[in-house]
Amino acid sequence: MSMNIAIDGPAGAGKSTIAKRLAKELGFIYVDTGAMYRAMAYYFLQHNIQGDDETAIAQACPDVDVTIAYENGEQQVLLNGSNVTAFLRTEEVGNMASATSVYPAVRTKLVELQRRLAERSDVVMDGRDIGTCVLPGAQVKVYLTASTATRAKRRYDELTQKGEACDLQKIEQDIIDRDDRDMHREISPLKQAADAVLVDSSELGIEEVVSEIRAICEKAKKERQA
Ligand code: C5P
Repeated sequence: MSMNIAIDGPAGAGKSTIAKRLAKELGFIYVDTGAMYRAMAYYFLQHNIQGDDETAIAQACPDVDVTIAYENGEQQVLLNGSNVTAFLRTEEVGNMASATSVYPAVRTKLVELQRRLAERSDVVMDGRDIGTCVLPGAQVKVYLTASTATRAKRRYDELTQKGEACDLQKIEQDIIDRDDRDMHREISPLKQAADAVLVDSSELGIEEVVSEIRAICEKAKKERQA
């Protein structure tokens, strides 16, 4: 049976950085599920499909094929065969992903793909509903969060480092709106699984968070062997 580590939490909590590091250390595959929702969102944007048009989105879903591949250990997202990884981390795509991830047609498709990946391989998978819905049997579940201000500042630094012009207040408001949508949607809302360990990264550096989660994994491993 494969070993599954689920890391859930709100936007900007540091999930992907931490999950990537952890996966590398453990020799596991890292699965960024947010990138899959972003790839679908990118398709909708490219085809001028509105985020609130559930009928058009459900109709388009059968035409959208999202797969993932690995290049030098880095996850690449293929949308209908084309590598779209480089276009996914914009605010526009993130907001569209949050708006369209509420629909069953979108979620069903991606959850199936995620479960298949986790069945086949040892994975560190991050997202919003991994511990609660995608992999309820994951051996390790972490809910990683941080204050809104910390998350906004991290996102701001990430964008300015890439040379993108941005506004801290707007980013913080986007994060608040995104959390609200993700936490209050009908299907698979973002919440801490009952058996997940809460890690607040507001005052912690990357290394400290990784080592805290590593300790949680080691404890789970010992419990499995006992
Ligand atoms: O994590 P990231 O910011 O890339 O996710 C983009 C959006 O995709 C989230 O705001 C959320 O609405 C959606 N998502 C989701 N379930 C996941 C991962 C992401 O609904 N497992």
